[in-house]
Amino acid sequence: MCGIIGIYDDKDVSKKLFFGLSCLQHRGQESAGMSLADGDQIIRKKGMGLVTDVYNEEILEELPGHIGIGHVRYSTAGGSHEFNTQPLMAFFKNTTMSLAHNGNLINYQILRSRLEEEGMMFQTTIDSEVILYLISRYNEGDIVEAVKKTMEMIQGAYAVVLLLEDKLVAFRDPYGIRPLVLGKLHDGGSIVASENAPIDIIGGDFIRNIEPGEIVVIDEEGLHSYEGMGKGRKHCVFEYVYFARNDATLDGVNSYNFRRRSGEVLYDEAPVDVDLVVAVPDSGIPSAIGYSQASGIPLAEGLVKNRYMGRTFIKPSQEEREMAVKLKLNPLSHVVKGKSIVLLDDSIVRGTTSANLIQRLRDAGAREVHMRITSPPVMNPCYYGIDTPSRINLIAANFSVQEIEEKIGADSLKFISEEGMVKASKLLGRDDLCMACFNGDYPVDPIVL
Ligand code: SF4
Repeated sequence: MCGIIGIYDDKDVSKKLFFGLSCLQHRGQESAGMSLADGDQIIRKKGMGLVTDVYNEEILEELPGHIGIGHVRYSTAGGSHEFNTQPLMAFFKNTTMSLAHNGNLINYQILRSRLEEEGMMFQTTIDSEVILYLISRYNEGDIVEAVKKTMEMIQGAYAVVLLLEDKLVAFRDPYGIRPLVLGKLHDGGSIVASENAPIDIIGGDFIRNIEPGEIVVIDEEGLHSYEGMGKGRKHCVFEYVYFARNDATLDGVNSYNFRRRSGEVLYDEAPVDVDLVVAVPDSGIPSAIGYSQASGIPLAEGLVKNRYMGRTFIKPSQEEREMAVKLKLNPLSHVVKGKSIVLLDDSIVRGTTSANLIQRLRDAGAREVHMRITSPPVMNPCYYGIDTPSRINLIAANFSVQEIEEKIGADSLKFISEEGMVKASKLLGRDDLCMACFNGDYPVDPIVL
């Protein structure tokens, strides 16, 4: 999971990129970067850490350019190293290009080996460099043709922003697995981003989603769209369950509404008679609201969140993850003491977070702790850019729901059904969603070497 943004305007855009990237910070906290073009050349500034660690007022002032792209990263392919930070840059055939990518190529190793055999040397260990290399290689002056040829080669999930000296290009994989939206800024500029929050915050209007397989080029002549590479729609359902901000509306579905409706559906599917509904903040809050509204059981804040901690799921190591959970959430004993509660959370991946939370709620005096999960059991790894662990570490791939209930120490445990998730999305049908980590039905067959 990463966040990407691209802006084409008639004045310097570094500050807009800064604010836009800050809105996308939840999608990756390991590194941040931006590249800017002024019509003649491209400059780039990137580094490890949060957006605010990499940039300050002075640095942004020294980054001229009216076209720009930006990236916040968490690592899936390749490791968490400075040399893997994005945007990437390439100098080839008298052209400079810079690229930022969200997603994961499933045939990356095959393509990279082939290119290495031809003598290509890589500067990173990430799949995104293969995309940039192929576009550079195919670029004979027609960037759309170069992107089309590249899209014929690469397989998997990708939302990409590409910067040339005088234009911004954005494209999305043929199934639209990763999100990419298009907006118009109030000052006349154009913007593309992983979610719509940067459009709202910078000041603009959401226009539409970039369609699966669509290529968009924005230059001084305006915006041009090239379609025809799409193969359907398989939007990652986990975006709605967990990753995207509550204010994100992606492919027509608003994350907040999805999460609230998931809570309502869960009450229909798995009611429980308790004193309080409690959310695991933040993504559990809307579903707890939905569960509370559907059941009439009062909603209470039973966990206090330290908002200065990063998101636990996207920390690279297990040790860091466990420490982050403890630092991040603390039970409110005067709320939960002596009460039976139903705890709403978005997913159970390894099970360690849930076990830890339930134990600490009991230590704080909760009499009963029931868990309701707004996604089905995660049984399969994701090959499209989400850092789910291999099967051996996925608790649901190795244990039944009953066994997980015992392992995490819940009084009862229920997951939403796949049909329930489809119902919660309302606008998208089962065929429009990737749910492979739950049901193993991968839209693009994984290549495991
Ligand atoms: S496998 Fe799961 S996490 Fe990966 S893209 Fe599909 S729904 Fe999203």
